Amino acid sequence: MVRTPDSHSGNRGSIPRIAAKSNFLMLPDSVTNAIELFKKLPGVGKRGAQKLTIDLLESKDDVFSELITNLVTMKETVKFCETCGFFADQKLCNICSNYDRDKFKICLVEKVTDVFNIEKTGVFNGVYHVVNRLISPIDNIFIQQTNLPFLLEDRIPKLIPKLTNDQQLELVIFFKAGFSSEATITYLREYLKQKGLTQNVQTTKLAEGLPLYYNPDNLDQATMVKALEDRRAI
Ligand SMILES: [Zn+2]
Repeated sequence: MVRTPDSHSGNRGSIPRIAAKSNFLMLPDSVTNAIELFKKLPGVGKRGAQKLTIDLLESKDDVFSELITNLVTMKETVKFCETCGFFADQKLCNICSNYDRDKFKICLVEKVTDVFNIEKTGVFNGVYHVVNRLISPIDNIFIQQTNLPFLLEDRIPKLIPKLTNDQQLELVIFFKAGFSSEATITYLREYLKQKGLTQNVQTTKLAEGLPLYYNPDNLDQATMVKALEDRRAI
């Protein structure tokens, strides 16, 4: 057996706890405050907050200054794209303002981070619409609480007159599978049917073969590429 300094103490559990507590009390207030502030960010736990704080403390002065300046600029200038809801420092994001992107192919995603997941595959040349929330009557989330009205009442009606003869507008659905996803898709289909738009607007979904309750955050890149390429009409 490999003996460690703790292995013969007979009280291995309490030593790190006491040490950790006194270390924490010894920290200057500004460090403790920084840790507490990082913990307020979603997804950052105590350990992550401590690591970020220590990394910052140990960073070079010029790197630290540049980072702080950039964070302030980022927070002041980055808003949401007026068209799709993705991050933007102008009225339109870099994707919507790119002339090479197919504006008649709109991928509907729930969250801004879903755009990252799709973009890293490099296979989608369309644009996006960040819905923000999916319809979920059980949670009192209806159409008005989502970003769908802008898509349906403004974005799509402006695109339809620009379609050429055989061209269709494609809505690519990229939602985490589940009841709210189904409720949102059902609403979309009904809306398009009622407005007589099904000839002009095709709704597609990722390929079959994905796990039933797939989570866009956990899909590996190869699966994502295949799912995007093999999408089917619904
Ligand atoms: Zn945009």
